[in-house]
Amino acid sequence: MLTGIHILLTLKCTNECDHCFLHCGPSREVTFTLGQLRILVRQIEQLGTVKTVYFEGGEPFLFYPLLLEGVRMVRAAGFDAGIVTNGYWATSVEDALHWLRPIRDLGVVDFSVSDDEFHRLDKNDRKAEFAREAAQQLGIPTATICIEPPNVSSRAAEGGRGKPVVGGGVLFKGRAAEKLTVGLPVCRAEELTTCPHEDLLSPERLHVDAYGNVHLCQGLSMGNIWEKPLPDLVRRYDAQKHPIVGLLLRGGPILLATEHGLAMSGGYVDECHLCYTARKQLVPSFPQYLAPKEAYGL
Ligand code: SF4
Repeated sequence: MLTGIHILLTLKCTNECDHCFLHCGPSREVTFTLGQLRILVRQIEQLGTVKTVYFEGGEPFLFYPLLLEGVRMVRAAGFDAGIVTNGYWATSVEDALHWLRPIRDLGVVDFSVSDDEFHRLDKNDRKAEFAREAAQQLGIPTATICIEPPNVSSRAAEGGRGKPVVGGGVLFKGRAAEKLTVGLPVCRAEELTTCPHEDLLSPERLHVDAYGNVHLCQGLSMGNIWEKPLPDLVRRYDAQKHPIVGLLLRGGPILLATEHGLAMSGGYVDECHLCYTARKQLVPSFPQYLAPKEAYGL
């Protein structure tokens, strides 16, 4: 059952992280307006199953008044609210307390700060730490999202032979598929027969961007809420009939690629690497389902 909506408040971000699924960055402009947020929150209410609404991006604090008003709307509608930020705004704990008091007063159940090598370009940068410390002082439930760069280790395979595996927690879609896969061990495309990370059949959470796209996975859209309201999209969603999802369910990324006769290279790091690579080639053929184009760096 669908219980979570993640609002991609903006695709604009202070950083251009190599592992970003959505190719966010300073040059991205698309951002919700207050009016659009109001419509979306009403549509989420009409779904009747959602418990939690997250605000993320991009970097949602770049549009702080919009973020505050969005959290206010969501709380007034009776949902739990969460926020994901990179903490760029926390120039000191004292300053961060001022940013966060209004958020504490509205009440959020999860305040997650991305803090890892990808986000911290300067290793002496303590802004994420200041943001976390201020949140903790205010009693806001706080978490850290830490993704390590890909690393290669060896594990004993069933036959007793060591097999290189990629660790670190990066999923190879979006910018990560283009920037972080070089030099990593690969598997044969024929082995990539499932989607291991998303429940495409019956998703528990969906992301919605300001263009109106409802993401089943980043850049893989169920439909557009500005064309058909979210409750209609969700109720009429038939995974098997979705032109991309149906193939992924029946045979994984390899079926998506072979069914469309796509050229494939020697190997792929994992399912997401092939899935993203295939989907990017298919954007011109399925623009309403493979959207927004920014999710493919276009
Ligand atoms: S296999 Fe494709 S749909 Fe599944 S999580 Fe990876 S990129 Fe997303």
